[in-house]
Amino acid sequence: MTRTVGILALQGGFEAHTKILRALGAEPREVRVPADIEGLDALIIPGGESTVMTLGIDREGLGEPLRALAGSGVPVLGTCAGMIMLDRDHLGVLDIRTSRNAFGRQLRSFEAEIELAGVQGGPVHAVFIRAPWVAEHGDGVEVLAMVDGHPVAVRQGRLLAVAFHPELAGETRLHQLLLGMNGAGRPTGVDGS
Ligand code: GLN
Repeated sequence: MTRTVGILALQGGFEAHTKILRALGAEPREVRVPADIEGLDALIIPGGESTVMTLGIDREGLGEPLRALAGSGVPVLGTCAGMIMLDRDHLGVLDIRTSRNAFGRQLRSFEAEIELAGVQGGPVHAVFIRAPWVAEHGDGVEVLAMVDGHPVAVRQGRLLAVAFHPELAGETRLHQLLLGMNGAGRPTGVDGS
């Protein structure tokens, strides 16, 4: 059965995600208003600008429906600003605190090959653009990858967040991981699988 994957499309880079999802056989759906969330099998919150995205979410009344979706066990992938949106201070669904633009001025944008726990087939090519890192996380959060001693990829049950842009490097394995999380479309079990 084809999975419908929402991509929050208020602002930021959602096009590249759309292409990857199509290539993986999923049906992308741009999410702009609460009705777009109905019946989604997974959701991606892309990169962009978290302050602008926050304003858009408030303006469209998307906060509650997005929280409900994540809380219902539907898999969610947040990339870069999307990671920020999932944190304690924004949508409050992922038990992390992020530090925005954390890599400093001289390293605002860079690319790296990083080993990501749970992703087979060699390192992930990661594009960091004014990226955040995870400054604090709760016990239920699994750190999947670090850069310079700071978590840049985390998972909590079916919520996955990365500080970088996998989609800009044509990296598809995080999208595959997302699609693989909801095999039967049912809420997560106690093991978070
Ligand atoms: N610096 C941006 C923010 O704080 C995130 C950048 C990105 O998504 N590439 O929202």
